[in-house]
Amino acid sequence: MTYVVAEPCIGVKDHACVDVCPVDCFYEGKDQILIHPDECIDCGACEPECPVDAIFAADAVPAQWESYTAKNAEPFQGGQELPKSQKKADWEADKETEGTLANTYYKEYPPKG
Ligand code: SF4
Ligand code: SF4
Repeated sequence: MTYVVAEPCIGVKDHACVDVCPVDCFYEGKDQILIHPDECIDCGACEPECPVDAIFAADAVPAQWESYTAKNAEPFQGGQELPKSQKKADWEADKETEGTLANTYYKEYPPKG
């Protein structure tokens, strides 16, 4: 099995989950953070850390976000390499720096309010 990041991450992406993952299996998706399904060891540590309850065990993803299981997995098929996610402190520090992943992200995906 694996854990899956669903829709509530979009516009938040605060990287709190990254800090607790023992195997560093979070990656930068365009609109949300993603879990590599072959690297996740199902420890569950990230799930309670998410402030917007975006993380679910694959067998517990709510029906309206069912498609997010494939959304997390597909970018890792076919040899595509996504950037590894930064720890929360580094992500926060980068937010105000033009051209960084964090800076660009919030311009494109501002908080939903
Ligand atoms: S803690 Fe939740 S909102 Fe923050 S990056 Fe991880 S999945 Fe996204
Ligand atoms: S369940 Fe554990 S191994 Fe999988 S992404 Fe979350 S913290 Fe990492």
